[in-house]
Amino acid sequence: MMENNSLTRYSEITEKNRREIVLLRGSGCKWRRCTFCDYHLDFSLDEDSNFALNQEILKQVTGKYQKLEVINSGSFVDLDAKTVSLILDTCIEKKITELHFECHWAHRDAVSALRRTFETHGIQVKLKIGVETFDSQYREQVLHKGIDETSPAKIAACFDEVCLLFGLDGQTEDSMRYDVETGLANFERVCINIMVENTTSVRPNPSVIDVFIKKLYPLYKADERVDILLDNTDFGVG
Ligand code: SF4
Repeated sequence: MMENNSLTRYSEITEKNRREIVLLRGSGCKWRRCTFCDYHLDFSLDEDSNFALNQEILKQVTGKYQKLEVINSGSFVDLDAKTVSLILDTCIEKKITELHFECHWAHRDAVSALRRTFETHGIQVKLKIGVETFDSQYREQVLHKGIDETSPAKIAACFDEVCLLFGLDGQTEDSMRYDVETGLANFERVCINIMVENTTSVRPNPSVIDVFIKKLYPLYKADERVDILLDNTDFGVG
């Protein structure tokens, strides 16, 4: 568990698919093996403490866009039951009709029940999966992502949105373009994260980032279906 008092946990995304976003705290990612990731360190095994924190964050939600994104440095299954229930109550009270969660591949079987829980109340659930790249060999051998499926369509079957990670050694203009186009062909929306320095040994590759900024960013920056986070706090949380 990291010292996380300094994290910003509520924000608004005011461009493209405008929505409020909250960074809640759960019991922690159960995979935790992605080589580039250290944000799974934001967790606590103390459910009461998580709920108390999440309650304060959810109080800030206004429903102004009727859309809410909930992230928790892991998957929705890591949130305690009282928090999930409060998310539902908040959506009902604030007339939120679209709710986004994130989920690792390993928990895909839990997605249908989550959708049903919210859809009963007229709230559409959108699930985002971090795939990072559709080059499955790179994804599994280098990034250790834990997705034992190579077909983009099969990965997309349970999910609505995909996260990609660019700025890594070995990535090229063609590989990144292929990833974005594959994401757009199989998912409703694509979220591109650019690798930043963190506490892992994976380092951003400045020349790959430069290629992205010069060649691909201009192509996709106005695309309503593509979010691009040049810095991982660009959504205002984290
Ligand atoms: S699944 Fe997500 S939270 Fe877990 S280690 Fe991988 S990137 Fe980090």
